[in-house]
Amino acid sequence: MTFNSNANVGGSGAKRRGPGGGAIAGGVGGLGAIAVILLQIFTGGDFSSLLGGVGGGAPSAGSETEITDCETGADANANIDCRLAAGSKAINQFWTGEVQGYRPPQLIIVDGSTSSACGTASNATGPFYCPPEETVYIDPTFFDVLEQQFGDDAGPLAQLYVLAHEYGHHIQQIAGIMDAHPSNGTGPESNGVRMELQADCFAGAWVAGMTRQTDENGVPFLESPTEEQIRDALDAAAAVGDDHIQEQSSGRVSPESWTHGSSEQRQRWFTTGYQGGVGSCDTFGAPGNAL
Ligand SMILES: [Zn+2]
Repeated sequence: MTFNSNANVGGSGAKRRGPGGGAIAGGVGGLGAIAVILLQIFTGGDFSSLLGGVGGGAPSAGSETEITDCETGADANANIDCRLAAGSKAINQFWTGEVQGYRPPQLIIVDGSTSSACGTASNATGPFYCPPEETVYIDPTFFDVLEQQFGDDAGPLAQLYVLAHEYGHHIQQIAGIMDAHPSNGTGPESNGVRMELQADCFAGAWVAGMTRQTDENGVPFLESPTEEQIRDALDAAAAVGDDHIQEQSSGRVSPESWTHGSSEQRQRWFTTGYQGGVGSCDTFGAPGNAL
């Protein structure tokens, strides 16, 4: 499995929240936030029309609880909520070493659905980062959607790639990259696609660096990824490429409406980060034909 079973992964601060929990902070929201979130959703848009979602029972209203029973890597290997919480601890540690003054985002594990300043979070919208709240929302049943609708059996490393992608957007927020490159429409060379490919690249950089992340006792959080796990993460990146999603939903590929990049682009930029580290992730400096 992915985590070292005796690593201490406790204390991530991640929370689980169901419908009605966490009132929206005053003053944010509205069209601006919606426009932002449309850029940030991991998979390029609301899946609800396409998929109808899966699972998502009826959790108690207004519930927000700390993730519990999540102390060791063995817990993370056994339980997906804990795996995401543990992943956040390792990702935060990585970025603390890369970005001066790094502050972690909040991580909310979505239980069915919950409201945010950037709209409703559920497995139908997919995981996303909400900039005004500096919060990552992820409903673990989204991985069932990936499997059922796109045939991608997202294993543990693929799940962590998805999480690390959203943390990549947090880096873009706190480093001013989002402000410097506002939305300029869609298409393979748009700022939106460059933003998404950079988040994929940041995720790749973390995967390469993750075996150096250790707990307080020097135990590495994660084992070195196997070739198969890397392939699995790349498969997840391909599954959520705009061209693949368009093919699945309408049978037609329209590059001019891309928001996240093609399967090939997403795989390539993940690999670029994996091989070259954070410094290789300048998707905004890349000419269009090199994206
Ligand atoms: Zn994204």
